[in-house]
Amino acid sequence: MSNRKNIMVLAGPSGVGKSTLAKFLVDNYKQFLFSVSSTTRKMRDNDVDGVNYYFLSGKEFKKNIDIGNFIEYEEVYPGVFYGTLKSEINKIIKSGKYTVLDIDVLGALNIKKIYGDSVYMVFVKAESVDSLKDRLKKRNSETKDQLETRIDRFKKELELEKLFDETIINETGKLDYSKEQISNIVNSHFI
Ligand code: 5GP
Repeated sequence: MSNRKNIMVLAGPSGVGKSTLAKFLVDNYKQFLFSVSSTTRKMRDNDVDGVNYYFLSGKEFKKNIDIGNFIEYEEVYPGVFYGTLKSEINKIIKSGKYTVLDIDVLGALNIKKIYGDSVYMVFVKAESVDSLKDRLKKRNSETKDQLETRIDRFKKELELEKLFDETIINETGKLDYSKEQISNIVNSHFI
């Protein structure tokens, strides 16, 4: 029996290439729209407000929590919040399109709890902890402490991989293969 999905969640450690895969998906499959998350983290050089994230102050973020505007939110790193606005997902669902989220592992499990069978859960990981470290170092957007926090988090996240529908190992230099896997997921579970 076919069980078509309309939400794809890409979860896994930061720096592993989830956002590249999400971009590949929305660029190549016009039925998919990216769910823009809100965050209190500082903007990086390439970030565009309203495109990569809605960049909010801590106060604005808290106000949205209090009003109940988030479907889910997490303090992904100490003092740094990320969350999905209800309005963001509702807008995409109303338009009749599919949603893709790039979100942390706990957030992903919360989305699954809420949207159940309509969600396809993809765990994206690097081939090894060392390779993830290298990629984060190259990205050069973290201090040494932040890098260690991110690696510790990755190790904890790995324990939850079994709750996902599928894992993509996004190996260095093999991005095309990961993209192919995304395409296979679209063809098998969405369109
Ligand atoms: P970055 O700061 O590198 O863009 O993202 C850090 C982490 O936060 C990534 O693992 C990303 O997937 C996660 N993240 C982004 N948006 C959300 C969200 O709306 N909710 C949750 N729970 N995590 C998110």
